[in-house]
Amino acid sequence: MMPAGYSGEVRVFAQYQRDFSEECDVAIVGSGPTGAVVAHELALAGKRVVLLEEGPPFTPADFELDGARSMARTMREGGVRTTRGSVMPTMQAICLGGGSLVNSAICPRAPEFVLDEWCTRHDLEHTTRAGLDLHYDAVADFLGIGPTPENVLGARNLLFAKGCEALGYSSEPMPRNVRGCRGSGECFTGCRSRAKQSMDVSYIPEAIRHGARVLTSVQVQEVVTEGRRAVGVAGQVVAPFGGRRSHRFRVNAKTVVLAAGCMATPVLLQKSGNLANSSGQVGRNLRFHPGVAIAGIFPERLDPQFGATQGYQSRQFLREGFKLETLWAPPGVLAVRTPGLGLPLLERLAELPYTAVWDAIASANRSTGTVRAVPGTLNPFLSWRLHPEDLGILVRALQVLAEIFFAAGAKKIIPGVQGLPPLLHSPEEAEMLKRHPIRATDIVMGGNHAFCSTRMHGDPRKGVVDELGRCHDLDGLYIADTGIFPRCPSVNPMFTAMALAHRQAQALVDRL
Ligand SMILES: Cc1cc2nc3c(=O)[nH]c(=O)nc-3n(C[C@H](O)[C@H](O)[C@H](O)COP(=O)(O)OP(=O)(O)OC[C@H]3O[C@@H](n4cnc5c(N)ncnc54)[C@H](O)[C@@H]3O)c2cc1C
Ligand code: SF4
Repeated sequence: MMPAGYSGEVRVFAQYQRDFSEECDVAIVGSGPTGAVVAHELALAGKRVVLLEEGPPFTPADFELDGARSMARTMREGGVRTTRGSVMPTMQAICLGGGSLVNSAICPRAPEFVLDEWCTRHDLEHTTRAGLDLHYDAVADFLGIGPTPENVLGARNLLFAKGCEALGYSSEPMPRNVRGCRGSGECFTGCRSRAKQSMDVSYIPEAIRHGARVLTSVQVQEVVTEGRRAVGVAGQVVAPFGGRRSHRFRVNAKTVVLAAGCMATPVLLQKSGNLANSSGQVGRNLRFHPGVAIAGIFPERLDPQFGATQGYQSRQFLREGFKLETLWAPPGVLAVRTPGLGLPLLERLAELPYTAVWDAIASANRSTGTVRAVPGTLNPFLSWRLHPEDLGILVRALQVLAEIFFAAGAKKIIPGVQGLPPLLHSPEEAEMLKRHPIRATDIVMGGNHAFCSTRMHGDPRKGVVDELGRCHDLDGLYIADTGIFPRCPSVNPMFTAMALAHRQAQALVDRL
């Protein structure tokens, strides 16, 4: 039931006329998959919830089909944020719904062996697959998560299945949080048919219906504390896209939940006076699923713009450390990794209707980095280094992708590896991926799945939060985003992050 004197609403930039303050039970920073789930569960339980989001809301009319323009509007640093050390682009959203607005809706459960490893290595008791399954189930029911139906797969997803089958590798339609997907292949720039169940069309409206107040265009700059307790957050209103700061605000809360994403939450803690850091682990242990991709050109026309953006996967190699997927993105984004200039580049682009792109994400647990606050901005400085053994996993994944392409009937592939020919025309030529020594600087990686910067650990000396996301050394402060993962989940992270957030919210209801 909605608490008396409290009505749900979403506020946008134009509605802030002066400095303001709010009172609530729970202030949640960040409206991505984790913040949205926590907001919904707590509002449903009758708690007074304020959800704060720095980015603006988007409607289908706001979506830009051009990849670069879309990235400039929906992503931090225009979508070109990179790590230093090993240079890897990493996209992080800034919009109502966070990453769910621009992601491909991929929702697998983390494998049992991965969660068992989390528990063993990090002194956790309940984060097993059996412990999480009821939370996965609740999120799956709410978001309609299910396998991608055949009628929206399109040729490039079906060819991946064909290649895997020919080689005896397991594969299956991608589980996704969509309702009525039309296979338009444009998840990356926002789903214009609103089939994708991003947070702004699913958990957030329901949270609002149950009384949650959603403030957009508000940048939280500080967690406010009194003694050993978090008592609220403070910050400033920011204009969409430009970031001009104006009115100040303060939200007083019994409990604060940080769900700002694994790169923003450590920065907020560091900027608030190095909070919750007696373990020294805030901003450390940063991990990614670095990804690599190969494009294959087929003799027949595929019209790859049709079909669920990422509609098929293979979990065959999870224990070797990588997962295989199909992929599509706006041509301008794909062109970035298409070799050649002038005529050779035009020839490749002319072949786009015959092209499929498949990728691999690696569980790069040996490759770690740090998130550090930069003076004068909330943008983080990220350093990260690809470990040679994790490079080995990526190279092996490229070899397997090449094999699947030729088994599916591709006439040539673009391996995207410096030092190799731009095109390989046969399985024999693809052997070069095995013979040629490949360095980290030879491959084009991307890492949009990021974790572990405020990791959970049963031992307060080794982690920032406990299994329920409670900060070990500051009362009233929880962290929900993927920063709390102890290690890589090995599969796409959003579903596991939401299951953990669901569990955290249920525990919080009893404590408030
Ligand atoms: C292009 C792309 C495709 C992806 N595809 C998939 C996929 O298909 N499946 C999958 O499982 N994962 C995918 N991911 C990853 C997935 O989207 C993220 O893991 C997930 O969104 C993380 O959720 P979160 O709640 O931890 O953080 P986020 O989704 O990053 O949300 C954090 C929110 O907090 C806000 N915020 C940050 N700082 C502040 C502040 N100071 N004040 C107020 N608000 C703040 C941000 O603007 C943001 O909206 C993809 C990511 C990208 C970028
Ligand atoms: S493939 Fe198209 S219709 Fe389906 S969820 Fe993605 S954007 Fe929406």
